[in-house]
Amino acid sequence: STGGKNITSKPPPEPSPLRRAKFFKANMRILVTGGAGFIGSHLVDKLMENDENMVIVVDNYFTGSKDNLRQWNGHPRFELIRHDITKPLLVEVDMIYHLACPASPIFYKYNAVKTLKTNVIGTLNMLGLAKRVGARILLTSTSEVYGDPLVHPQTEDYWGNVNPIGVRSCYDEGKRVAETLMFDYHRQHGIEIRVARIFNTYGPRMNIDDGRVVSNFLAQAIRYEPLTVQLPGTQTRSFCYVSDMVDGLIRLMEGDSTGPINIGNPGEFTMLELAETVKEMINPAIEIIKVENTPDDPRQRKPDITKAKELLGWEPRIKLSDGIPLMEEDFRKRIGIPRK
Ligand code: NAD
Ligand code: UDP
Ligand code: UDP
Repeated sequence: STGGKNITSKPPPEPSPLRRAKFFKANMRILVTGGAGFIGSHLVDKLMENDENMVIVVDNYFTGSKDNLRQWNGHPRFELIRHDITKPLLVEVDMIYHLACPASPIFYKYNAVKTLKTNVIGTLNMLGLAKRVGARILLTSTSEVYGDPLVHPQTEDYWGNVNPIGVRSCYDEGKRVAETLMFDYHRQHGIEIRVARIFNTYGPRMNIDDGRVVSNFLAQAIRYEPLTVQLPGTQTRSFCYVSDMVDGLIRLMEGDSTGPINIGNPGEFTMLELAETVKEMINPAIEIIKVENTPDDPRQRKPDITKAKELLGWEPRIKLSDGIPLMEEDFRKRIGIPRK
């Protein structure tokens, strides 16, 4: 019961002209949550190229590292704060790129409850912050919101096929709630939101042993170990090079569409094809073996990027065979095995 009160739904408040105007001012103060991670640190590099940006990173270093940001250590336009976003955060900023969340299955399953807290309470806190200071906020959601998709390739209007109680649910359901929170703060409080659905991304600075397929295969090939293709090996993924991803995220933030918008590379490969490609490019002498898979592994994944093309003028430029050598250099340096 409404207790006799006449409840009518209010239209969402329009952002004030002043609030809108600040998105075009010089000296933008930009918060990047998860900025010490793989994608976040590349985003920071790009944002720092613009002299008018002040960049603040908050990160709890769960999967990220200060080392990814050492090039900005001490820079007058840069600040790094150790902070866990499941706790409230008080900073004054104009834009928030909200990336904080472990992305690799090994790490997000390691403490599933914590992953949920990061997605739900962490996103709530960043939205509360955006509301208080009038900032625009971008969420890096994921293709995992489509689950094991029954629509192929995946378009943004597909609602997904997700197991709510499985071992991946802390991540994919967590991101689904994060998206819901974004749209409810937008409708209810007029917050300016942007939602990106990121598809598998690879490149330098990925954790070497984080279990994701491109980093696994590359590290295995460099170490002369067999490439571990998880069964059946016919499952597909589409891999986007990190500089293309960062370009897409910035275009989304600076454009006019809320999203959700798929950002990914539509080139689709089976895991066996990926293994063959890595073997051929890095070390033709190694073996490819089949190993057990984990539960609920999606069988296929490929973004439909029509919206990104039309609304952001974005499409990826770097194909897998060009991206792998760029990543190889970084991996060889960190593993300590130079190319012969
Ligand atoms: P990553 O693990 O390298 O980076 C995540 C960063 O968030 C790390 O630096 C970590 O320490 C930090 N973090 C985690 N929990 C935190 C917390 N509670 N408080 C503060 N910091 C916290 O992962 P990534 O690949 O760079 O992914 C970045 C974002 O993109 C994530 O939101 C992820 O879900 C999304 N995404 C990535 C991919 C991909 O293929 N890499 C695909 C889809 C979506
Ligand atoms: N919050 C924050 N930083 C801020 C403002 C809010 O971390 O600058 C957190 C706040 O602690 C709360 C969440 O964001 O847990 C949601 O804030 P909101 O104001 O929307 O909700 P309320 O505080 O009324 O529950
Ligand atoms: N995979 C694989 N070998 C590995 C690691 C992963 O064959 O050493 C497969 C995995 O089964 C999945 C695909 O690669 O089908 C992508 O897995 P990843 O963990 O990189 O990303 P996600 O499942 O989140 O797309």
